[in-house]
Amino acid sequence: MSRTTVATIHLGALRHNLARARALAGPAKVMAVVKADAYGHGLERVARALDAEAEAFAVAAIADGLRLRAAGHRQRIVVLSGPDTPSDLVEMQRLRLDALIHHEAQLPWLAKADPARGPLRVWIKVDTGMHRLGFPPERAREVHASLLAMPVIEGEVGLMTHFASSEEFQGRDTALQIARFREATKGLEGPRALSNSAAVLGWPDARGDWVRTGGLLYGLSVVEGRSGADFGFRPAMSLATRLVAINRLAKGERVGYNGTYECPEDMDVGVAAIGYGDGYPRSAAAGTPVLVNGRVAPLVGRVSMDLITLDLRAVPDARLGDKVTLWGDGLPVETVAASAGTISYDLTCGMTRRVLFVEDEA
Ligand SMILES: *Cc1c(COP(=O)(O)O)cnc(C)c1O
Repeated sequence: MSRTTVATIHLGALRHNLARARALAGPAKVMAVVKADAYGHGLERVARALDAEAEAFAVAAIADGLRLRAAGHRQRIVVLSGPDTPSDLVEMQRLRLDALIHHEAQLPWLAKADPARGPLRVWIKVDTGMHRLGFPPERAREVHASLLAMPVIEGEVGLMTHFASSEEFQGRDTALQIARFREATKGLEGPRALSNSAAVLGWPDARGDWVRTGGLLYGLSVVEGRSGADFGFRPAMSLATRLVAINRLAKGERVGYNGTYECPEDMDVGVAAIGYGDGYPRSAAAGTPVLVNGRVAPLVGRVSMDLITLDLRAVPDARLGDKVTLWGDGLPVETVAASAGTISYDLTCGMTRRVLFVEDEA
């Protein structure tokens, strides 16, 4: 079987989305979050597409900062998870990566860091309610003062927090987190960075000096029931394959592993060359929309490793070799994610090495 599972990355969409994020977030500057291989879109590819416009990149690992420097990117790169060992700091000095300081244990490493290895830019992470990384709000002031006094620290000390549920635009948690952050950092000098993508959309109060947008750059939304397109963003990934079989099945015949789908009438069932071995979610429920030649052919039966099966009753002219679109153009990945019990980020991050990545300028 010659597999033709293709993820097309739309470079024009990436650029459009960064411009759109900037327009929504202005006057705040935009950190383009490219962690997890740019949410599965390809770190070097995305960074190349956004280089001219991105004021800074943000990653989760020093190794990704290294890849960006190796590719020639010169802007600020913020490592969102901070140094885990003193030698991480040395590496961050060498690569000129901004360090996130979120824990007491990191302070003595910084105090002892050798300024001769290069200056270090830092951000203090304040935990305003997420309870993952960050100093308690009441520690922010002292940590800020002690960092400013350390010889290795260059320039201003940034102030950051992260929201737990900013996609709940009516919820109270984010308002509370914003208030705690303001209180904890009142009067302190340095740039503020609070917002992730959902906060850019729903919490204009939280803009600060920088926003950290990931999902929106890829056209992805985590707001329930809303796709990135609903906010003026374009999908940066289209995932497609081909129809490799069409089977005429009789009423009552069952399809796929464990026979979970029973044909309600005589019908054509299409077989497409993609499965969880490519990153299409095994948890996708029967009825999940899939496009065959642009028309909806719902998923039937279980997703298997290499193949899925489709109800072709609404696409009577389907032929072998026809294009099958799993998400992207015309089919929001958010819809597929909801049907699989997850979020869009999880799906784009989950492409396996079996998928062929190509680029287009659109
Ligand atoms: C991943 C991440 C972001 C980006 O979140 P999006 O929802 O993709 O915009 C921002 N800040 C931190 C600390 C993160 O870990």
